[in-house]
Amino acid sequence: MSRFFSYRHTSLAPYTPGEQPQDMLYTKLNTNESPFPPSPAVVRAAEREAGRLQLYSDPACNALRAAAAAHYGVGPENIMAVNGSDEALYFAFHAFGDEKHPFAFPDITYGFYPVYADVLHIPAHILPVGEDLAIDPADYLGLGENIVLANPNAPTGQLLGTADIRRILLSNPDSVVVVDEAYINFGGESCVPLISEFDNLLVVQTFSKSHSLAGGRLGFAIGPEALIRDLNTLRYAANPYNVNRMTQAAGIAALEDNEYYMENCRVIRETRQYTAEALKTMGFEVLPSMANFVFARADRLPGGELYRSLKERGVLVRWFDLPRIRDYVRITIGSREQMDILLSAIEAIFDERSRKS
Ligand code: PMP
Repeated sequence: MSRFFSYRHTSLAPYTPGEQPQDMLYTKLNTNESPFPPSPAVVRAAEREAGRLQLYSDPACNALRAAAAAHYGVGPENIMAVNGSDEALYFAFHAFGDEKHPFAFPDITYGFYPVYADVLHIPAHILPVGEDLAIDPADYLGLGENIVLANPNAPTGQLLGTADIRRILLSNPDSVVVVDEAYINFGGESCVPLISEFDNLLVVQTFSKSHSLAGGRLGFAIGPEALIRDLNTLRYAANPYNVNRMTQAAGIAALEDNEYYMENCRVIRETRQYTAEALKTMGFEVLPSMANFVFARADRLPGGELYRSLKERGVLVRWFDLPRIRDYVRITIGSREQMDILLSAIEAIFDERSRKS
């Protein structure tokens, strides 16, 4: 830390992103990327824009928002495009939280929420999930605080139904409820249709997972016009050109090719089922997941050891060295071939250990 760093940040513990190793080729199942490349039209659109990079991008993202509005069945005034959904979440905390307006969220959830609360000096109200690591929607009724829920939740993959979200919205009419739908296209039902009904609902989606654009950085905040206007005030106070030209063009092309991506999601759901069953046969407990990952633990091998042994064998999964979930690893659902590599590696690790013991 330099002697110039503001006292306001000296105790800040920043988010630790998943490993993005550049040194060797891993079977990479640690940051929930898609195993499918962008569609050819997306690649062409980004390439076309590459030749115009001397020009700023459209700060209003008008063409992209028009395409996204048609896709989501809302108006363009209900959408703000962002540089990955992390940015929308940050703006939401910044816009709606302050010392009198805390954010409530589960103890087991996306690790960025406590960081946003911390960096913005917003009190966090942390509600423990149940023994089964599931969120109990009843805990969020009548809280009178802003709420952020990942749905499906991360890193567990467990899903709440829209009826539960609706109850939470109804019972917290004077607070904003942010629903982070990063993984919604892998089997859940989106809350976007509820935005016409609730003035306190903000939905956040990303193209990083289902739409194979993690490296392009594209997400959307979708909500009632007034909430989107607030987010835009902060965006224009920070970085109006937040979505670059290539990504805006790629996003429009991805929306035009939505069927390609939805078919990929279907394949990922099938591969998830295959992987979960194979892991269970090997003695794992696998939480029911509606995301493009599974959260699993095996009695015979602590999560940290499994993570390290897999890494030695060239397979990267995500391990969180945190209370309550240390025994688990989070495994991204990749291609069937990648999952077979993972399963063989686990088998080999188990074999080696039983030979030693
Ligand atoms: N929300 C959740 C629950 C996530 O797991 C992630 C991915 N790390 C994000 C949001 C952010 O994704 P991105 O910024 O790539 O859109």
